[in-house]
Amino acid sequence: MSNPRAPRSKTGSVDVVIVGAGFAGLSAAERLVSMGRSVLVLEGRDRVGGRSLSGEVAGVRVDLGATWVSRRHTAIRDLANRAGCTTIGQFSQGRNVLWAAGRRRTYRGTIPTVSPAALVDMARVQLALNKLVASIDVDAAWNSPEAGRFDAISFGEWLDRKNALPATRTLMTIVSKVQWGCSPGDVSLLHALRYIRAAGGVDHMLDVEGGQQQERYAETTQEIAKRVAERLGDRVVLGTPVRRISQNGTGVTIRTDSAEIKAKYAIVTVATAHRAEIDFDPALPEQAEGLAKTWRMGVLSKAFVAYDKPFWRADGLSGEALTDTGAVFITFDVSPDATGPGVLMAFCDPRVFDGFDLEHRRSRVIQQLVQLYGTRASVPIDYLDHCWGEEPFAPGGPNPAVAPYATTSYGPALTEPHGRVHWAGTETAGEWAGTMNGAVLTGQRAAERVAAAVARESREVAV
Ligand SMILES: Cc1cc2nc3c(=O)[nH]c(=O)nc-3n(C[C@H](O)[C@H](O)[C@H](O)COP(=O)(O)OP(=O)(O)OC[C@H]3O[C@@H](n4cnc5c(N)ncnc54)[C@H](O)[C@@H]3O)c2cc1C
Repeated sequence: MSNPRAPRSKTGSVDVVIVGAGFAGLSAAERLVSMGRSVLVLEGRDRVGGRSLSGEVAGVRVDLGATWVSRRHTAIRDLANRAGCTTIGQFSQGRNVLWAAGRRRTYRGTIPTVSPAALVDMARVQLALNKLVASIDVDAAWNSPEAGRFDAISFGEWLDRKNALPATRTLMTIVSKVQWGCSPGDVSLLHALRYIRAAGGVDHMLDVEGGQQQERYAETTQEIAKRVAERLGDRVVLGTPVRRISQNGTGVTIRTDSAEIKAKYAIVTVATAHRAEIDFDPALPEQAEGLAKTWRMGVLSKAFVAYDKPFWRADGLSGEALTDTGAVFITFDVSPDATGPGVLMAFCDPRVFDGFDLEHRRSRVIQQLVQLYGTRASVPIDYLDHCWGEEPFAPGGPNPAVAPYATTSYGPALTEPHGRVHWAGTETAGEWAGTMNGAVLTGQRAAERVAAAVARESREVAV
């Protein structure tokens, strides 16, 4: 990897320039290099990994962004294997805690057993949701039979129409905050259905055992990206935001603050909203511009609280909790082992978290952990948090919070190439959109398409 501060040569030329060094960009580069193509990956941040970022709390490496993989996430698992990274199971033994309507209870399994009526209601709503999900075209949600109707309302409005009980709403609000970084009222029903379909259905999306939260990486997920980038060497350039992409019939010119690079093609892997920060010449067609303007990123924050031991395990608790109030709305045990340190990972609602100073954020999180896990939670040995909405470059995550009408209006522009500019990134995935696995698949897909186009042109020149 090139030193982020070192200015590169003012001009250069490669087969393909890739914008963004997240999993999509790095996978595209890896695939193109394996096919004998010259590439340059330009990353605006001074690090690789994008929405995957490591931190350290009490000496334990933790995932501030992407964490989990399911057994079915074969593309990211393959990349991680080749990078020498190893999965560990998400700890889930024991009872989970629920804090709802000012009361603490414990339960087993994914769905909280609040009351028989609430359980029946959750099953009813989940069944209705699964029926709609089954009708979604995962590769082109806007072409699904009832796309227009589903895109005209928010997920929240749909829950209203279903007369969802408060406990069902609490669960669905947590799903929405974790998946799209917003409340159900802020995300289109069609967008929600597309992501649930892409995640393999409601159960696979929510479950630890057999689901998306089954495993995480001992080395952290950003370490996978770092190792892939290491192999790509000085083909990856950090601290270099791409400002402009112009093109003519023979190639593209990429402009950064300090250089101009010529290439045959570009692959842009930035999140849809961040496409709007790049000046395209010729300009993007109306639909692609609409996509960049309306597919805004959701926001999510995470806090990590370390204790000398995972003390909750001795109480028969899994470290998994759901709450309907305050900053923390879900927790997981991400301790390295039973002997310590014990680490709780808490997902936090940015609206009541990000604007406060570190001391406020810390005391707010710890206060909630005391409600959930008892007074021993009041004596942590370390604390760390990360607010994705506050990132200075390419802020937001985990996924776009796409409002009603924006999927049917602009969705087709997700993958439609703009001349010599091709698109990748987890948003452009069909199956597994919104995950690292989706990102890897789209990077590889774009690489293959562009490599084929470069080969075709080379043959035409030879003739
Ligand atoms: C809090 C959180 C939790 C998550 N949990 C999980 C999880 O458990 N499991 C899972 O599979 N996924 C999870 N995700 C989602 C996962 O991180 C993403 O799906 C995946 O990392 C996206 O990869 P990408 O390459 O498509 O995009 P990104 O990682 O966003 O990469 C795009 C890159 O482009 C760069 N960029 C943007 N604009 C420019 C520009 N103009 N010039 C140059 N570079 C630019 C950005 O800096 C970024 O590095 C989570 C995300 C977050 C934020």
